[in-house]
Amino acid sequence: LNVATIVAEGARRHRTKAAVVTAMPDGVHELTYGDLWERVRATAGGLRSRGVQRGDRVAVMLPNVPEFLVAYFAVLAMGAVVVPIHLLFKREEITHVLSRSGARVLVAAGSVLGEAAPAAADTGALVVGVGAGEDVVSLTALASEGEPLDAVVATNPLDPATILFTSGTTGQPKGAVGSHFALVEQVNVCIIDVFDLREEDVVFGGLPLFHTFGQTVVMNTTLRRGATIVLLPRFDAATALQLCTDQQVTAFLGVPTMFIALLGAAEQHDARPPFRWCVSGGAALPAAVLERFESTFHAPIQEGYGMTETSPVISVNPRGVPSRAGSVGPAVWGVDVVVADAEIEGRIVPVPVGEPGEIVVRGHNLFLGYLDDPESTEAAMADGYLRTGDIGVLSEDGYVSIVDRKKDLILRNGYNVYPSEIEAVLHRHEDVASAAVFGVDHPVHGQEVHAAVVLRDGAAGSDAVDAFVREHVASFKYPRVFHVVDTLPIGPSGKVLRRELTRQYSA
Ligand code: ATP
Ligand code: MG
Repeated sequence: LNVATIVAEGARRHRTKAAVVTAMPDGVHELTYGDLWERVRATAGGLRSRGVQRGDRVAVMLPNVPEFLVAYFAVLAMGAVVVPIHLLFKREEITHVLSRSGARVLVAAGSVLGEAAPAAADTGALVVGVGAGEDVVSLTALASEGEPLDAVVATNPLDPATILFTSGTTGQPKGAVGSHFALVEQVNVCIIDVFDLREEDVVFGGLPLFHTFGQTVVMNTTLRRGATIVLLPRFDAATALQLCTDQQVTAFLGVPTMFIALLGAAEQHDARPPFRWCVSGGAALPAAVLERFESTFHAPIQEGYGMTETSPVISVNPRGVPSRAGSVGPAVWGVDVVVADAEIEGRIVPVPVGEPGEIVVRGHNLFLGYLDDPESTEAAMADGYLRTGDIGVLSEDGYVSIVDRKKDLILRNGYNVYPSEIEAVLHRHEDVASAAVFGVDHPVHGQEVHAAVVLRDGAAGSDAVDAFVREHVASFKYPRVFHVVDTLPIGPSGKVLRRELTRQYSA
């Protein structure tokens, strides 16, 4: 079993078809399934000639460009482990990842070498550059070294395939080790049970490929199906809207900030891509945004729930029926979701249906553990289940609803306030483009509820929004402090960083 079978088989079945289409500053580039596999084989051969062996780790720090796929599948095909690094990581963080993972090689974009090259020098990793200067080996040059790999190496199903970093939404990103089995199985589950993905689909690839959502759910699922992925190296809503229209993109998968940004772009531009199905995940999609998007783009959104540690899909609203408002759908095939009282150490005790508790998960999709950190891994597990850190509710018929993250809970005068609930109300107001709710320590109330809002063009101010929220939520939880801002702080996978707002407004 090997995740890279996706590209070897892809070449066998769809040799001349475009696997990857990329919008580059100098135009649109196409890479066929056949060419992708040839480049993967050659690159794997080059890595071997540099001493990389099965089980070794190779770091990849690239934006959404075809070379990401080449490097990723080359490493996997030879039975080595890929360690994708967030593009925003700085020298110290890169050094940390390289030394913790023991990566022998770092494949990095020329644009990040300023941070990446010194980090690699610190740990002794060989730097392979993409679009880089003269002083490092280029990926193309590496591919001409050694003999191309004959065939994908068969790994054991539970061998590590990737070490993926979490989004760092609640703290330092954690490295989650994923197995070939979990990653292959997730792709199959997405295709068989979850999405209406067809060979003729053109899928938007604007989610970062170094993150689990873009990598497994978008890239690998698309290629396994023999469809085409359209890469956008750096997400920008106006560019995305135009690109999706030009390339006739039929499937749009993103995080909520992307759906919001695309709606904003659609107010300024007439271009409308032929979306047939869309998927939102990674953070709560406010119901009002879902409705606005579906009516603007005439395509249904399936909201799903997942995390890096679960490879990543846990639950998704089924295709072909309207998403149930406020729900992230039933657990996917092979995954058990329990809402538990996590207070009882070591034992999972389900709470009654309809009551909130911590979501715990088990199934084929569990990770192998955090990188070199058995203590954190141990702490994340209970009774064979993974504690997600998310609070949720299970309905009678098994639909999961997420209340919020445990860590983001605001405690004001002894009352629990869940930011997501307030954010959903804020998004219902027509003046609000996007909004985030967060807690700030307060000498009297313990914490105070703050809201940061980005207003839509033409909105007079936040007073109308303030009045609207007061009307719709109980007085103990409405935001007492409003901040009108131009943008919200967003992390590497496109999620709003509430903790950054808390930090900013605590000062
Ligand atoms: P970190 O673990 O580093 O703080 P992170 O949890 O954001 O970052 P990911 O693995 O990318 O890292 O995200 C998983 C989390 O995203 C889930 O635990 C959950 O809190 C949130 N999430 C994912 N999908 C949804 C959704 N549909 N609605 C609400 N929250 C979601
Ligand atoms: Mg997390």
